[in-house]
Amino acid sequence: MTDGGATNEWVPDIARLQAREDEEWLRVERTYCGRLLAYAHRRTGDRQAAEDVVQETLLGAVRGIGDFDRVFTFEQYLFGICKNRTIDHLRRRKARTMQLPEAEEGPAPIESLARETETPSAIVRGRELSERARELYAEVLREWVEETWKEREFLRLCVVEALFAGGWRNRDVWKHFDLRDETAVAGIKFRALKRLRQLAAVRESGNDLLHYLAAASEGDERLFDLDLRALWREKRVSCPARHWIARLVAGTLGKEPELFVHFHLDEMRCPWCQANRDDLSSAGKEAELELLIERLRESTRRYLQSRRDPD
Ligand SMILES: [Zn+2]
Repeated sequence: MTDGGATNEWVPDIARLQAREDEEWLRVERTYCGRLLAYAHRRTGDRQAAEDVVQETLLGAVRGIGDFDRVFTFEQYLFGICKNRTIDHLRRRKARTMQLPEAEEGPAPIESLARETETPSAIVRGRELSERARELYAEVLREWVEETWKEREFLRLCVVEALFAGGWRNRDVWKHFDLRDETAVAGIKFRALKRLRQLAAVRESGNDLLHYLAAASEGDERLFDLDLRALWREKRVSCPARHWIARLVAGTLGKEPELFVHFHLDEMRCPWCQANRDDLSSAGKEAELELLIERLRESTRRYLQSRRDPD
């Protein structure tokens, strides 16, 4: 996630979570419950179901924390579980009703949700990047986003996200952002790829990636688009930190960053950032959330206790 140089929000201490400390888990529930609920609610369209999904998510998180993979952030770990539980729920519902809602703004059809979990290597056969190279690629992309954010080049950020993550054609980007002409779009893409190569070159083991970026620059579009699009979304390369979304909701973000944050949320429809916004927008529903947190605390506590005092 990109932070634009400001302070990060609280992240849990994984070691304390693995030691099954109540306090740390409680704070996890407080911090993430609202946005998980917003995510599940948006997809299931059902408050009760969403609460169940959140409860299952947190229990899943407690159970699985021993195998936590530090390649991911804790939020990615949690949202990954939440997505799977949501898919499970929609599958069960599909089995019951044999039909699914398909409204634009309503719950996502299960097929598209399931597709979100596909990894680039599942899509691009034969020529996929190694996992190490993908990590490196995500790092380099994040660095590019970070530096573009600091330069306050928000339009450039939008253009590159549209091309890289959205798979938009130059022509559509040009029209959408009212740029001079299509060549301007191609120019932005060319310079971004060049900068990515520079960023990759200064890293150890950047070779795989350089090879790949060179292929992309030479116009191996298919490979480039498919792999990059999934990577960008999966690794949340451009997701703004939560405090930026809070400012968007409060209307204090400022025109320039707003261009990008708004684009990321409403054009790219990033599900994680949308969940954050839903959560942040639902001020006044604290009482309801409080009840859910209470319920989560109870189920987590019971589980932790059963692990501590096996009888
Ligand atoms: Zn996002």
